[in-house]
Amino acid sequence: MTAGTPLLAIHGLTAAYGKIIALKGVDLEVHAGEIVALIGANGAGKSTLMMSVFGRPRARSGRIEFDGHDITHTPTHHLARLRIAQSPEGRRIFPRMTVAENLQMGADAAQASEADRAADLERVLTLFPRLRERLTQRGGTLSGGEQQMLAIGRALMMRPRLLMLDEPSLGLAPLITRQIFDAIRTLNRQDGLTVLIVEQNANHALRLAHRGYVMVNGLITLSGGGTELLQRPEIRAAYLEGGRHGT
Ligand code: ATP
Repeated sequence: MTAGTPLLAIHGLTAAYGKIIALKGVDLEVHAGEIVALIGANGAGKSTLMMSVFGRPRARSGRIEFDGHDITHTPTHHLARLRIAQSPEGRRIFPRMTVAENLQMGADAAQASEADRAADLERVLTLFPRLRERLTQRGGTLSGGEQQMLAIGRALMMRPRLLMLDEPSLGLAPLITRQIFDAIRTLNRQDGLTVLIVEQNANHALRLAHRGYVMVNGLITLSGGGTELLQRPEIRAAYLEGGRHGT
């Protein structure tokens, strides 16, 4: 599964916020068709890694490649053309726009044709039937779980080659979390969608992912198969058994 040129390849990436060095030389790869989980405690640098693909913050050193092309210094607005989509932490949907309008924003970013928009919308609404029931409601009136579905749905309307999800389970009830993770699994199995998922919920994320990376204090300390990592004693001790991230 991991042979050939990776879809996303990060080499020796460092990034900082002023004097705070958030990434200290990170190597990570995501191959086409994979689900890769990046786990780690609060403040480890997971969100920074994801944001740095979009140039915020800019890499201080190292390289980011997408499908073999160096995108380390590609302006953010050009990245949508590469069809790298992100559902950021905290969801960030447009609260005053309706669900339908939020979804169209994703299609606009991808400059999708009318036929593609209609097909993509149907696909998203089949995946998340709750959004179909709420198409004319304003985004801000949705529950947290529904907003997460909307954020993922909007990213899917960008017809992504790579979908990056930052903490999709944050603040959600277990049942909703399961629905969202099931939807990600379905997208991967049915459509071969490539996913990089950042999670504090190590248990859910490693069960979902083909491979995982563990980040501690701006560095990758461990990587391996999802189930392999789940069974490692140091992962169990730090993130699962009795840990606050192990639900
Ligand atoms: P969380 O699960 O809390 O989002 P994380 O693993 O995603 O954690 P980051 O948010 O990437 O971690 O944070 C990495 C480090 O960078 C932390 O020390 C954090 O305080 C710092 N940091 C993050 N964002 C900023 C910012 N905008 N300005 C200054 N420092 C920041």
